[in-house]
Amino acid sequence: MAGNANQVCSMGTLINLQNVGKTYITGSVANEVLKNVNLTIDEGEMVVILGPSGSGKSTLLNMLGGLDSASCGTITFGEKTVTELDDSRLSDFRAEDVGIVFQFYNLIPTLTAAENVALMSELGVEIMDPMEALKLVGLAGYENKFPSQMSGGQQQRVGIARALVVDPEIVFADEPTGNLDSNTTLEVLKLMQKIVHEKNQTMVMVTHDNYLASFGDKVIHIRDGKIIGIDEHPGGRTELNENEITDMYPGGTLAVPGEEITPYENA
Ligand code: ADP
Ligand code: MG
Repeated sequence: MAGNANQVCSMGTLINLQNVGKTYITGSVANEVLKNVNLTIDEGEMVVILGPSGSGKSTLLNMLGGLDSASCGTITFGEKTVTELDDSRLSDFRAEDVGIVFQFYNLIPTLTAAENVALMSELGVEIMDPMEALKLVGLAGYENKFPSQMSGGQQQRVGIARALVVDPEIVFADEPTGNLDSNTTLEVLKLMQKIVHEKNQTMVMVTHDNYLASFGDKVIHIRDGKIIGIDEHPGGRTELNENEITDMYPGGTLAVPGEEITPYENA
């Protein structure tokens, strides 16, 4: 790529969705859960998919990560057309290009932090040094701890290290702080934001929470399976104030009175 280090380069498109739809058929009932989704995700962005429960966030994320297939439309990922990959190429794509962070961490209780992080290498996937990945998430020295010996926030950091260790093109996180208290939620969120900005790691996070969404560079508002607006605020929120912290609900859900991201209607 041309240019020098002092130049701000505009990032390329990593993912592109064109007219993507998903319909689940249950018996004789067709449930159209994603309708005509068009969007692009650029390299190095922290993208947030924001919408209420049942709006189709997880379905959309699963489709982006090749975990579920689209009923119609086209998804491209770099040079690959995800919607045309056969099963074997799709599983390579999931293992090598994608890192996933889960709401309930999904750590294996009988394995140490380092062993959990290294798990993908057991499946033959090339990984970086698990210790380096643990260091990235602030857990140097925790490599021999078992999940039961760590707090929820620390377990989720291991979950993030496990996603990063394959050096993925993109990290997907579905309600990654949904099981954490408010202070830990903020720590984990800021860690993810830092990784995106410092490592230029593309990330897509799903949440139902306006406040958490405000940390993203781009917020995609989804309702009833349709994108109703996209907000861009490059850099995202980085500062917090005391009032905002005391206004959080327990259980990792945060509310900021008077601060609603108002989605605009597509013209
Ligand atoms: P969100 O993550 O925003 O809460 P989901 O993507 O999980 O929403 O679900 C969107 C809609 O799709 C819901 O109405 C849900 O019931 C439906 N749905 C999700 N998965 C399936 C499935 N495997 N079969 C049928 N319907 C599903
Ligand atoms: Mg969901």
